Amino acid sequence: MHIFPLAVALALAFFEETLFHGWGQKFYVSQEVFQEKTELQEVVIFENPLFGRVLALDGVIQLTEADEPIYHEMMTHVPLLSHPHPSSVLVLGGGDGGILREVAKHAAVKRMVLVEIDPDVISLSKKYFPKLSDGVFDDPRLEVIIGDAALFVKFSEELFDVILCDSTDPFGPGAVLFTSEFYGDCKARLKEGGLFVNQNGVPFLQGEEMTLTLNNRSPHFAQLGFYVAPIPTYAGGGMAFGWASDLTLPFEAIREEPFVQTLFYYNREIHKASFALPNYMLRKKPIPSEDP
Ligand code: SAM
Repeated sequence: MHIFPLAVALALAFFEETLFHGWGQKFYVSQEVFQEKTELQEVVIFENPLFGRVLALDGVIQLTEADEPIYHEMMTHVPLLSHPHPSSVLVLGGGDGGILREVAKHAAVKRMVLVEIDPDVISLSKKYFPKLSDGVFDDPRLEVIIGDAALFVKFSEELFDVILCDSTDPFGPGAVLFTSEFYGDCKARLKEGGLFVNQNGVPFLQGEEMTLTLNNRSPHFAQLGFYVAPIPTYAGGGMAFGWASDLTLPFEAIREEPFVQTLFYYNREIHKASFALPNYMLRKKPIPSEDP
């Protein structure tokens, strides 16, 4: 075999994430499982010897079997164990089912609503990542709505105790989920004492995403900030979760649940420690808008 075809073959055997220009992570593809452009985004699913099965949307890693529990546990249990009675939870995006799987572990939750724009993500996740949703799509507490989450929060009249915005990054269909209008509409969908959490990227490399959500959440919520968790395949340092509420001390871990012992990453010490932020994040402040 000539050297050139081998190089091409090896090149074809790697998935290179395209999130950052000039730097990125590369996964050896031991088996390509699925690849298709849905009406909304390019979906790629492949096997990697270290991370197991991997889902990428529009060239960006969304989750891997190996480290998805860190992200899904931290986005879910920090707010839900900080809320005294999280009986109704709204999940925006999150069509892979990982967040829903974690929300369903809370007996206090009586109603879950998922609003996912791309039905193919749900069907592909059920087919190729069955452990991810782990049967939650059959949970009688769940209502699945296919549509734009921005329109749902604008036109729905339902109120929720917790809103979890598990979106893609702020481009493509996810861009609208980082606007002031969207955060204002989310605020209107929260009951008194409600908690909001969003996926806020990796601040070391996506610092502009912190400024974006600080600027766009601050007009609507009295308290807002971030907590972090190290998710190996959200490359570039700790992953930030944006939080917002009108409560004074919104994210004290006040509830205990026996299932916490069974979790992969989350525990009460981790909960508390995740709010300790590095200086380069603490320095990020909303930029006052020019208009009066
Ligand atoms: N955990 C991943 C991360 O941190 O990047 C995100 C997981 S999940 C796959 C992201 C989901 O958001 C996708 O299924 C995508 O289709 C959905 N999504 C993007 N924009 C949306 C919108 N405007 N309304 C509803 N769902 C949206």
